[in-house]
Amino acid sequence: MTKAYYLGIDLGGTNIKAGLFDDQLKLVTKQRTPTHEENGPQAVLTRIYQACHDLVTAANVDWASVVALGLGVPGQMDVKAGLSIFSPNFTDWENVPVADILSKQLGKPVFIDNDVRVALYGEAAFGAAKQAKDVVLVTLGTGLGAAVMLNGKVAYGASDSVGELGHMNMYRHGGRLCACGSSGCLGRYVSGRGLVKTMQEKLAAGQPSIISDWLNDGQELTAALISDAVAKGDATAQEVFKETGELFGFGLVNVVNLLNPELIILGGGVAQAGEPLFKYTKQVIHDRAIAVAKKAVHLKLAELGPAAGMYGAAVYAKKRQSTEEKI
Ligand SMILES: [Zn+2]
Repeated sequence: MTKAYYLGIDLGGTNIKAGLFDDQLKLVTKQRTPTHEENGPQAVLTRIYQACHDLVTAANVDWASVVALGLGVPGQMDVKAGLSIFSPNFTDWENVPVADILSKQLGKPVFIDNDVRVALYGEAAFGAAKQAKDVVLVTLGTGLGAAVMLNGKVAYGASDSVGELGHMNMYRHGGRLCACGSSGCLGRYVSGRGLVKTMQEKLAAGQPSIISDWLNDGQELTAALISDAVAKGDATAQEVFKETGELFGFGLVNVVNLLNPELIILGGGVAQAGEPLFKYTKQVIHDRAIAVAKKAVHLKLAELGPAAGMYGAAVYAKKRQSTEEKI
C-alpha cells in the first residue's frame, strides 16, 4: 500500500508555517517562509504553492501520494466554498477563492478554515484539548479570537463565524471604535493591541511608569514590555493588567454561562503573560459565572504553541478528505 501524506498550512500575516504529515498525522518535515502579504493574494498563494512543493521535495515524497491540503486563514470565510471573504491583516484581500486557486495549482483537494478553528483541531488532536468535548479556544495575539467545540464537534454557525469573541460588546455606550462597525468590542481591550492602547492612555494621562524610561531608550511598546513592567512591580502596568484581565473575565463569564465548556484554552503570544494577567480573569469568573457552570470549567494554557495551526490544518485536511464529513 502506498503511503499517504497531508499538507498542513497556517497562513499568518507575517509567516506561512507549512508542514508535511504522514497518514498518522506525524510531522515529516516543516518550513516557515515569510508571507509578504503586502504583495497581494496571488503572490501569497504562489508562496504557499512553492512551500508545498519544497516540503514534498525535501522529504523525497512522491507527489502522487499527497492526499490533500488543509489551510488555516485568518478572518471571515465561506468554508464550504473555500472562499476567504475578508482578512484584516492582508493587503487587497477580499473574496479570494483560495481553495479553487490552490487546488488547480496543486492538483489536490484544498480545504480552508478559520485560523483559530484550525488551531482548535490541533489542540484537540495533540494538545491541551485531548479527550475534551466541550472546549473554547481563545487566542490572545494582536487581536482576540476564539473557536468553539461542543460535544466533540467544532461549531461553525450559520455563516461560519462562531467564536467572534473579539467583537463581544462590553459597553452599551462609548467604548473604543471597532473595525466591525460597533464600539466597545472586547478585542479592542483584551489583545496585544488593546493592552498597548490602555497603557498609552495611562501614560498620556501622566501616570508614572518604568515603561516611559524604556520607551525613551528606544524600546517599542508591546504587550511583552508591559508584562516585563508588571514583573518589576510597576503600578501603572499592574493597573493595565488588572483592568484588562477583569474585562476578559467578564467576557468569559458570558462564554461560560452561554456554552458551559469544560475547558477554556488560552493561546496566542499574549497568553504568555500568564497568571499576572489571568488571575484577575479567574477571579471574575469565580465571582460572576453561574455556580454549576463555573464548577465544571477550568482554564488551561495552549500546549502546541505557534505550531497548533499547522498541525490542526493537517488534522482538518484528513478529516474533510477521508470522511467527506459534513461540517
Ligand atoms: Zn468589533
